[in-house]
Amino acid sequence: MNAADTDALAVRLAGVHERIRTACATAGRDPGEVRLVAVTKTHAPEACRALVDAGVLDLGENRVQELLAKIQAVGEGPRWHLIGPLQRNKVRAVVGRVVLIHSLDRPELATAIGRRAHEAGGAPQRALVEVNVSGDPRRAGCPPEALLDLLRHASRVEGLEVVGLTVIAPLPPPGTDPNDGARPHFASVREMRDAARAEWPRVTELSMGMSADLEAAVAEGATIVRVGTSLLGERGPGPYRVGEEVG
Ligand SMILES: *Cc1c(COP(=O)(O)O)cnc(C)c1O
Repeated sequence: MNAADTDALAVRLAGVHERIRTACATAGRDPGEVRLVAVTKTHAPEACRALVDAGVLDLGENRVQELLAKIQAVGEGPRWHLIGPLQRNKVRAVVGRVVLIHSLDRPELATAIGRRAHEAGGAPQRALVEVNVSGDPRRAGCPPEALLDLLRHASRVEGLEVVGLTVIAPLPPPGTDPNDGARPHFASVREMRDAARAEWPRVTELSMGMSADLEAAVAEGATIVRVGTSLLGERGPGPYRVGEEVG
């Protein structure tokens, strides 16, 4: 990244921190309760390094191949998050390399993650259960009515520690404020988290809110926001591949 890009990134990062602070002030929350995960998908490892240099500690990727390429290029300095879907055949490559898997959505995946972590002999893998709050079958995530069964199953899996929930708000209707559309969904996932926490006290985190709707997420109790576009600008068309320098 050249000096102008680095300056632009610093300005954008300050803007995102300011939005989080303002949203926290409105909600009467401590900004220290909200962790920023910078979403670096499609951007080159250089962008990841620039974020780390600017003081961002957590980076998120939504595709496993791209995640692994960036870990290899950037190293294990940042805390890596897998925020996109995980297939069972990729579990082996991911477990132990990321601080948090945001996309646990079915019992078989919980079992596979736990088995791998146990086998590898490291710490239990932390994960969030992704909730498909709109119930749209085309979207990822565990249906709300299956959540408690999945949490119960996961609580018995050695090598796996579920520490909260994730949600992606449905796309807002054109011309509306995404915060308005997202807020009721965030509120209902917060209620699911509260209900789950009564039984499993470690279920505390709420990963919700992106560039367009982080205010609503913070208002409803997000402890992790996942922000890409507001930090790095519009994304290129496809995933970053090794040997390619995009963005
Ligand atoms: C891409 C992505 C984000 C970031 O979205 P922006 O609108 O660019 O902030 C957040 N969460 C997930 C799961 C994503 O895939």
